[in-house]
Amino acid sequence: MQSIAFIGLGNMGGGMAANQAKAGRDVRAFDLSADALSKAQAAGCTSYASAAEAIAGADAVITMLPAGKHVRNVYAGDVLPHAKDGALLVDCSTIDVESARAVAALASEAGKSFRTADAPVSGGTAAADAGTLAFMVGCADIDFTDVETVLEPMSRVTLQAGDSGAGQAAKICNNMLLGISMIGTCEAFALAEKLGLDAQRFYDISSQSSGQNWSMTSYCPVKGVGPDSPADRSFEGGFATDMMLKDLRLAKQAAIASGGVTPLGGQAEALYAMLSEQGLGAKDFSSVIELLKKGTVTG
Ligand code: NAD
Repeated sequence: MQSIAFIGLGNMGGGMAANQAKAGRDVRAFDLSADALSKAQAAGCTSYASAAEAIAGADAVITMLPAGKHVRNVYAGDVLPHAKDGALLVDCSTIDVESARAVAALASEAGKSFRTADAPVSGGTAAADAGTLAFMVGCADIDFTDVETVLEPMSRVTLQAGDSGAGQAAKICNNMLLGISMIGTCEAFALAEKLGLDAQRFYDISSQSSGQNWSMTSYCPVKGVGPDSPADRSFEGGFATDMMLKDLRLAKQAAIASGGVTPLGGQAEALYAMLSEQGLGAKDFSSVIELLKKGTVTG
């Protein structure tokens, strides 16, 4: 049986580790939170008192941590010193491209034949619990099949984006596009309302015209229009504005570091920051339509 150390058992990692245990794998779990650790134990994982103990002897190490600084610390302090020779190290957190490449470089210099992958996910806690996440992977071609096998109990689809850091690059570019397209969709619905257009009729027309996009036809920000979405539940659940803001900030950081030009990404970040400052960061990101309808945004 494949043994997997799982570090970071929060909203996402908890469900992901549980699916590894459900698949019959020996899951060696650790989290700084005692509550998260006991939930993982109840879900069939074995809990350890430290990350080092969980990692020692595992065939693969999966991390699901908040941000780049946590991943850098856990790699430097726990993973690289304690993982066994040849272990497969897979970071599923959403972090900056630079940190992803830095930990992969440190691993390759550790002298233990580690194989590494950055594998951020698309899909929220419901997909983490259901084992239906989409993984975007940055790793060496030769390691991809093994990465896919390790991720399999947690995934609906696993795609290789390229070498180290490419998974994170794909994730932030995709989410920047999503943030922008959602704002564009919301602006169109808000203006349609001002012009006296019925939202359903506008949807019927635009969804079959050149304005059609995923934010409109799979995640419509207007209540009662299109398939079921967070707009039908007062923007509860779904993908939190604060999460989108985190990803847009990572995109900006990557653009600055690489000389990329992302003016609309910057505008999107400013709008989501405004929502967050108004205390609405936990609401779904499509709630930006409320801000646009209020007319308090200039531009
Ligand atoms: P979370 O805050 O719920 O969980 C993070 C866990 O890491 C916490 O339980 C925390 O105690 C633990 N942790 C922090 N430092 C640690 C350390 N040094 N050692 C061990 N454990 C440590 O966050 P989450 O929502 O599960 O998100 C995890 C990652 O997944 C983030 O990078 C996030 O951007 C990404 N993500 C989240 C979602 C979502 O919908 N929540 C969707 C896609 C991607």
